[in-house]
Amino acid sequence: MDTSRRKNIAVFLDRDGTLNQDSGYVTVPEQLILFSGVPEALARLNQLGVQVILVTNQSAIGRGWLTTEGLQRIHQRLADLLRVQGGSIDDVFFCPHRPDEGCACRKPEAAMITQAAERYSLDLSQSFFVGDKSSDLDAAHRAGVPGVLVMTSDYSEAALKARDEGQFSIAHVAQTFVHAVDWIESELLGRC
Ligand SMILES: [Zn+2]
Repeated sequence: MDTSRRKNIAVFLDRDGTLNQDSGYVTVPEQLILFSGVPEALARLNQLGVQVILVTNQSAIGRGWLTTEGLQRIHQRLADLLRVQGGSIDDVFFCPHRPDEGCACRKPEAAMITQAAERYSLDLSQSFFVGDKSSDLDAAHRAGVPGVLVMTSDYSEAALKARDEGQFSIAHVAQTFVHAVDWIESELLGRC
């Protein structure tokens, strides 16, 4: 299969609550615990030839609980855990700001997505965003990226409710990240 034409398609991924357990702020690598099946599913995304881009709010940095170097160590652990199954993340965009700083990058703002779109010449309407929170789906919606909600955190139900109240639309609701990848895979293969 020719996957080269998917280089302008991204699958944006939220981190906490989507790939790993959201048990508060992750400030040391050992606190990053992936959900079951995530490395295998992520490797399947890589095989589709899309850009896999992490988009994460990390206000722990702005709060002084984590340094940029500390975040890089956490993402090195993430890369190590994914590599076991042959998977990798192509790029990481993070917002270090606190909510009260009013930046343009913290989700639900869309700047991290639009920056990625510029860097990789992405076709956002053909891309996907997988996340567990209203802020993820809202950011995706603002950027014109179809959103996939995973029901894997305490925030997922609230996102569903916000969708029902008309705050944003969601392209698909998946029980887990593995199910989200199943759906994205079938969507992309169906376009052939
Ligand atoms: Zn920011």
